[in-house]
Amino acid sequence: MLRLVEKFLSIQGEGPFAGVVSNFLRVWGCNLKCVWCDSFYTWDVKRSSFSETFVYTFEEFREDIKKAPLTVITGGEPLLYSRIWEKWIREVEGGKFQFETNGTFPPILKDDDRVFFVLSPKLKSSGNEGAIKLDVLREFVPLILKGRAFLKFVVSDPKRDEAEILEVLEKLDLPRDIIPFSVFLMPEGTTRELPLAEEVVKICIKHNFRYSDRIHIRIWGNRRGV
Ligand code: SF4
Repeated sequence: MLRLVEKFLSIQGEGPFAGVVSNFLRVWGCNLKCVWCDSFYTWDVKRSSFSETFVYTFEEFREDIKKAPLTVITGGEPLLYSRIWEKWIREVEGGKFQFETNGTFPPILKDDDRVFFVLSPKLKSSGNEGAIKLDVLREFVPLILKGRAFLKFVVSDPKRDEAEILEVLEKLDLPRDIIPFSVFLMPEGTTRELPLAEEVVKICIKHNFRYSDRIHIRIWGNRRGV
């Protein structure tokens, strides 16, 4: 049994599966506290209410995954509950699953090709110190090479973030030819204009990173549950 904050059917708005019709399962709880977090209601009890959360069972999960080609498991931090996801996904047939994780917990289900990871390591500009866990990120590298994991850096302070992203990538030592396909930069922002988008594109062009827009923000702004 898990505790979710919301579940809904929509399109994936960002990253490698942008545009794919997806079930979203958003768990309660996160181990970080990003200053610009757009899903603060998953962890910040001062700005949200635990009473908005609800219990989610395996039986519901088994039915929900039939509703869309992709199930996006997000949060909060979904890998706080690794053992449950591992058990549930092993018990169901078919479906594809994408974990949206902050890269502080190791991969699960490494032998299951239905499972993908979008890692969003949190840079210093997120307000978290020491949130980049290189040892954990290195565990994902074999999956990045197989196209089952991707890095997605949220850029909120372009100059400062550019330098830190380059530093992280140098330490990870990813093959140069994989970076243009597997390393995304995405502008932070919750208004349709995404004011940082142009600057982020310029950094992408400079270093051959892949740009991710935020389709859901462009369409719905910062509305929940879409
Ligand atoms: S890791 Fe994600 S959910 Fe957690 S605080 Fe940061 S942006 Fe929010």
